[in-house]
Amino acid sequence: MKKTVLDSRPQLAACIGECAEVAGYLWEKGWAERNGGNMTFNVTDLIDNDLRLLPALEYNGRTEFSIGKSLPHLTGCWFYAKGTGRRMRDLARDPMQGGCIIRITDDCAHYEMVADAPVLPTSELPSHLALQDYLIGSGSKYKATLHTHPIELVALSHIRRFCSSEELTRTLWSMIPETLAFAPLGLGFIPFTNPGTVELADATLKEIAHYDVVLWEKHGTVAVGSDMMDAFDQTDVLNKAACIYRAALAFGSEPEGMTDAQMKGIQDLFHLPKERLG
Ligand SMILES: [Zn+2]
Repeated sequence: MKKTVLDSRPQLAACIGECAEVAGYLWEKGWAERNGGNMTFNVTDLIDNDLRLLPALEYNGRTEFSIGKSLPHLTGCWFYAKGTGRRMRDLARDPMQGGCIIRITDDCAHYEMVADAPVLPTSELPSHLALQDYLIGSGSKYKATLHTHPIELVALSHIRRFCSSEELTRTLWSMIPETLAFAPLGLGFIPFTNPGTVELADATLKEIAHYDVVLWEKHGTVAVGSDMMDAFDQTDVLNKAACIYRAALAFGSEPEGMTDAQMKGIQDLFHLPKERLG
């Protein structure tokens, strides 16, 4: 097996290994066709002095690459990021070829690739790093950002009635108690905006202040979490609720859903934030 910087760093290896595990789930679920989806993870706490001393890797004669904007909270930060054009299923097999460890330069507007190979990060890096910048700036403990294409949630965003955070959240929560318990902030909704644009990144930042998972109309989800599994789990429980909704419709009836009183009872039981149920 090829040597990697993860070999002698069990904590970093476990953390990036979890990113790889999640990437495998995304592929198995059909949420990550071709090179679809992106992820970044803040690994700053796991970077030791030897890693700090590693030289930046060269790519096309350059070692420094622009983020496209200055993100002041990212000073001194290091991230693991999926590579541009890389498939989640390839990242699952070999995370250090499907992604790369990068460090942010002192001007907070550029990054360098450090290990293991010069794998250029996802083209959505600016919006992922903007999210990371927001998380640090707001004092959040979250370190993971995950964008994927969960089939049933994307399908719901094609139905006008569900194009609102309130309607989506209430319907999904009402399908099964665990959705309310494990996605307690619900699902934010962002009207259709072109992928990779500043407008979409800004709208996502605004919404993620209120939700851990947001749904881009007719595209996919963005989730933040304490680790990659947490970001995945929150997306997964919301999509499971959408699957139950679809299954009830397939039986020939609009599902009844839990009542507001029943859902409030679950909020009490699990000491969840009392939100979004009027
Ligand atoms: Zn996408």
